[in-house]
Amino acid sequence: MNEPLFLKPYFQEKIWGGDRLKTEFGYDIPSDHTGECWAISAHPHGPATVENGPYKGETLDEVWNQHREIFGNAKGDVFPLLTKILDAKTDLSVQVHPDDKYAMEHEHELGKTECWYVIKADEGSVMYYGHNAKSREELQQMIENHEWDKLLRKVPVHAGDFLYVPSGTIHAIGKGIMVLETQQSSDTTYRLYDFDRVDAKTGKKRELHLKQSIECTNVPHKDPELKQVKSKVGDVNVTQFVSTKFFAVYEWHVQNDEGTFKRESAPYTLVSVLDGKGEVIVDGKHYPIQKGMHFILPYDVKEWTIKGNLQIIASEPGKDA
Ligand code: ZN
Repeated sequence: MNEPLFLKPYFQEKIWGGDRLKTEFGYDIPSDHTGECWAISAHPHGPATVENGPYKGETLDEVWNQHREIFGNAKGDVFPLLTKILDAKTDLSVQVHPDDKYAMEHEHELGKTECWYVIKADEGSVMYYGHNAKSREELQQMIENHEWDKLLRKVPVHAGDFLYVPSGTIHAIGKGIMVLETQQSSDTTYRLYDFDRVDAKTGKKRELHLKQSIECTNVPHKDPELKQVKSKVGDVNVTQFVSTKFFAVYEWHVQNDEGTFKRESAPYTLVSVLDGKGEVIVDGKHYPIQKGMHFILPYDVKEWTIKGNLQIIASEPGKDA
């Protein structure tokens, strides 16, 4: 398949969600409590739908299951990645995700390592990221005693920041922040603390998972060492934020110019347009692209040109994905 696979996202309402997926990105969202846009998703809890070409109307998991050649005959039961845009009107729950081993054993799905590109952050915004406990016993004590201020680390963030969140990292996206999240395709979240909120719809607090949280958290917390690598493809400025066994994530930035990419080792490429307008050119065909669009460049697309005024976040599966 020598053309991009454009995708229609799936939206999830959340207790902490807002309306910026509509006001910022123009999406048709179900309510003004919409927290998550599952943009490039083959996860059964919210698969994206193909918008063009021979597979128009099929969900991404159907295409993954029935036409694996599009993905270079990649191995694995499940499409490994999930790209989301999140709008945190209020704080998300303080949570942790398991690694592959724990998740397979207890949840029969992938673990979840994720990362965030900060699209927008209101003045004074903070992420909860990591913790101050020195041992698992101390972690348990601080959780049981509700010593959240002592336990949780807060990190100020701004638009353009990038944070890598390996499985086992305690975290919460803070209020007033929008991120593009690239993650392993998993929906397993263990909540430690939900700010004692009551869900307006159910009248109940959301479930906590203290035992699993304590078992899954990396103790002591260690910040990952990240090194951004900058390069140029034609006139496109490329920043590689991270490259791990799970995924590699890049920013492609082009201003009134263009660059032609060649497929390297990864079998397919996920692309999200965060800002601007332009086109992607594949095999002499011009496909208009603009802010809010998401697509996959399949295996047969060995070369593509990005042209216009565009800010893009792209990702590729890593060698374990
Ligand atoms: Zn998370």
